[in-house]
Amino acid sequence: MNDSAEVVGICRDLLRIDTSNTGDPQTSKGERAAAEYVAEKLSAAGIEPVVHETLPGRTSLVARIPGADSSRGGLLVHGHLDVVPADPAEWSVDPFAGEIRDGYLWGRGAVDMKDFDAMVLTVVSQWHREGYVPPRDIVLAFTADEEAGGKYGAKALVADRADLFEGVTEAIGEVGGYSFTVSNDLRLYLIETAQKGMDWLRIHAKGRPGHGSMVHDDNAVTALAEAVARIGNHKFPLTVTPTVRTFLEQTTELLGVELDLDDPEKAIAKLGPIANIIGATVRNTANPTRLDAGYKDNVIPGRASATIDCRTLPGQHELFYEQLRELIGPDIEIESRDPQPALETTFDGDLVDAMSAALKAEDPGALAVPYMLSAGTDAKHFHQLGIRCFGFAPLKLPADLNFSALFHGIDERVPVEGLEFGTRVLDRFLRGC
Ligand SMILES: [Zn+2]
Repeated sequence: MNDSAEVVGICRDLLRIDTSNTGDPQTSKGERAAAEYVAEKLSAAGIEPVVHETLPGRTSLVARIPGADSSRGGLLVHGHLDVVPADPAEWSVDPFAGEIRDGYLWGRGAVDMKDFDAMVLTVVSQWHREGYVPPRDIVLAFTADEEAGGKYGAKALVADRADLFEGVTEAIGEVGGYSFTVSNDLRLYLIETAQKGMDWLRIHAKGRPGHGSMVHDDNAVTALAEAVARIGNHKFPLTVTPTVRTFLEQTTELLGVELDLDDPEKAIAKLGPIANIIGATVRNTANPTRLDAGYKDNVIPGRASATIDCRTLPGQHELFYEQLRELIGPDIEIESRDPQPALETTFDGDLVDAMSAALKAEDPGALAVPYMLSAGTDAKHFHQLGIRCFGFAPLKLPADLNFSALFHGIDERVPVEGLEFGTRVLDRFLRGC
């Protein structure tokens, strides 16, 4: 079997295993079946994975491929096996059928991120057939529960089995390495070197409970609603971090767009399909997502609560809380729940050079540029082990594809050619790492 047919077949098999993560262990499914499939592929490639299960069915795998020089720091290559749910009624195809149509492989997880899982499995299978040994230790991790924050996956792995990652210094995973077409002979490949921090915090307003028919000037619902509206309408101050500055300087020059670093949003708006990705990384954001109050139509409750999805820029965690406190005043309680830090590393060194070289070898028009992801990935957990994390899951995309809309989107699909391209780039990169 040639490698291109192999990666498509593996990705298709993975897409056909429904690994929907609802955020509730009772209704999430399929991770063990996917892990068993992956374990079988690894075994066939001479690699024996360690199985890690936090709850029955919430299965992750870790495996180490010894390198030619194990005294060098290891490289972690990680991908999650779960996907967000998909409603078949909204899709043009069955989201779990792995259909190939119009040059695309369709299905929930096609870009997030069974495509990369399949590339990794294809590359290591190919190595096994050749008897190839990588230059340094490669540690593979296939995780459960990324889509709900990693509690039953990467987070637990890092807490329980840090030993499996001993000596690992760097990591690659989602979300980066995909192309943005500037012209026929120039494609930017966005390498993720930073991630915003996240905190799905709760705010609580307290008041005097009472009868809904009375005059009442201490209503928790009113106080909460005012705070929520202030947050929802607020724009936090603009901050251009080193990653975003490098990205903007490089891309705007290439695109011939005028860049004013005091007002970069004008330039960002002209970046086409990646405008919304970059636009989310120049300020802290706070979006109200849930409201909870009351239990009866004519009773004023003593307490009202809301969830706020907060995303913070690297180094701004403390400042953000000060800003939020100032915005909503002293009487609203803020409950921070398991905040996850922002990450930022520099865009330099041998590993970055290896990414650039691998891309360039397969696409002479490739230019690698750093960018910040506004969301979070398993990298947040692996970073806790002191690992320098990058988003590099290479994909060459058609110029007109709105890639970011496919993540968690309807009709998620990956171009078959892009998948094959990514496999070749990943292979080259790992051989050169
Ligand atoms: Zn993902």
